[in-house]
Amino acid sequence: MTATDTTARTPDFDRSNPSRLRPGRMETDRLATRIAVAPGRELRHVMSPLTGEVVGEVPIGTADDVTAAVAECRRVQRRWAQRSVRERAAVLLRYHDLVLEHQEELLDLIQAENGKARVWAFEEILDQAVTAHYYARLAPRALRPHRRLTALPGLVTATEHHVPKGVVGVISPWNYPLILAVSDALAALVAGNGIVIKPDSQTPFTALRAFELLEQAGLPEGLVQVVTGPGTQVGTAIIEAADYLMFTGSTATGRTIGAQTGKRLIGYSAELGGKNAMVITADADLDRTVEGAVVACFANTGQLCISIERIYVDQAIASTFTERFAARVDQLRIGAEQAYGPEVGALASDAQLEKLTEHLSDAVDKGATVVAGGKARPELGPFFHEPTVLSDVTSDMAVYREETFGPLVAIYPYESVDEAVEAVNDTEYGLNASVYCGDVRAGKAIAGQLMAGTVNVNDGYSSGWASVDAPMGGMKASGVGRRHGRDGLLKYTESQTIAVRSALAQKLQDPGPDGTGYARRFTKLLKLAKYLPR
Ligand code: NAD
Repeated sequence: MTATDTTARTPDFDRSNPSRLRPGRMETDRLATRIAVAPGRELRHVMSPLTGEVVGEVPIGTADDVTAAVAECRRVQRRWAQRSVRERAAVLLRYHDLVLEHQEELLDLIQAENGKARVWAFEEILDQAVTAHYYARLAPRALRPHRRLTALPGLVTATEHHVPKGVVGVISPWNYPLILAVSDALAALVAGNGIVIKPDSQTPFTALRAFELLEQAGLPEGLVQVVTGPGTQVGTAIIEAADYLMFTGSTATGRTIGAQTGKRLIGYSAELGGKNAMVITADADLDRTVEGAVVACFANTGQLCISIERIYVDQAIASTFTERFAARVDQLRIGAEQAYGPEVGALASDAQLEKLTEHLSDAVDKGATVVAGGKARPELGPFFHEPTVLSDVTSDMAVYREETFGPLVAIYPYESVDEAVEAVNDTEYGLNASVYCGDVRAGKAIAGQLMAGTVNVNDGYSSGWASVDAPMGGMKASGVGRRHGRDGLLKYTESQTIAVRSALAQKLQDPGPDGTGYARRFTKLLKLAKYLPR
């Protein structure tokens, strides 16, 4: 086997006293043996954004590996689909307990491969437990066969069944290694499917450990197949073979994959990019708003699809808000510890740091003002950067319209709410939005005018995300389909209607000797039906 170092740039931070990352190589080497690829494949280093150290190595899979993984998954899935929904749900409930029990170990893995601060890694643990519990409780009810009204009630019966799709392909990004690889898979699994997943090559170990815990909870071995490798090869091979595809990632990749799934006529759900906005009205409680905006913009180092990158604030309070927000942002604790404490972690990669730096320098060159942060922090680790706040941003700057996907936010004062609503909606995206206000009724009225799949009132993103019974996803170029709620479960099934006609119903359709019986009887029945209670 050969090792390919894919780190784009040698980190220039102080390596004299490197921290000892958890977990060690023994654990990641053990997890890598769970990857479904043939022996002898080339290896890729997974580098920690926290320290620049190698977390582990994963094989670079091929299309042949995917073919073998799908075949094995399909074989196991047939038996899994025969189990009762309650049995499948019981696995999720045991997984719920295991995730909470093993949280420290999962937090270490998430931090090591993604670089986020531990507090934001904990959000992933919370989400896992909530999602597993929710779908375990919902599935037996939602997947139960339902009787449906028929044209001839009593004479014809119709029952709606939910049949698993079969093999669900999952392609996930690096920013939430646990949530985005596993949460959607939980819904698909409880619905009776198998999973072939390509996690991002930068963050494979968290998913591998989580699926191992699922097996410990009772999932049959082989039902989930993890194949690592490039999106264009492994991802494409999954799309070519799966019965449904769940994709989370950029809008650009989402469009490519949409065309591929369209060609195969398989179902497709996509959670894509955003340029999410917050509106702050003049009567908002400023203490609460400042704290809320800090989390909304800088949780997960701003690498959150529902993160706020634009703040529209009533001009009456714009300068006070900006001053207080900037002061709070400058106090945020940035750090690489694998422990609770730092509020801001590292960016996940060289590419992320580069994009942020490009957006920031383009804005500053064209006249924007840096009101907080603004500098890279290489002494902390290879990809650390201060959370940064801009004002005086204009439409010719990249940051005005493009998703930065990093800790960079621009503040825009507005004169009227109508002007703010128009500005928020002036984007190709429509993922998440936020309204901070004193009068909640007025805030909800503003929320209703914003073209975004979720809108949080007096919160940045967590209330909408954590409402797992409510659908979550993007309008416009931010997505296709929804995760969470019933939609997030039933999309992994085919609806099948089984209708049974009685002998009497058959008689009613008899045309009789002159051929008019059928038409006459049904005309009478239709006239009568109008007066029957439903
Ligand atoms: P990306 O689209 O580059 O990659 C996402 C995944 O797709 C990776 O696993 C990648 O290997 C794979 N991939 C890339 N090209 C592919 C191809 N041609 N065929 C098949 N698979 C391919 O996205 P990223 O940069 O890793 O993630 C950041 C983006 O994801 C941001 O735009 C962010 O807003 C978005 N995102 C959205 C959500 C959401 O829920 N809406 C959540 C997280 C991230």
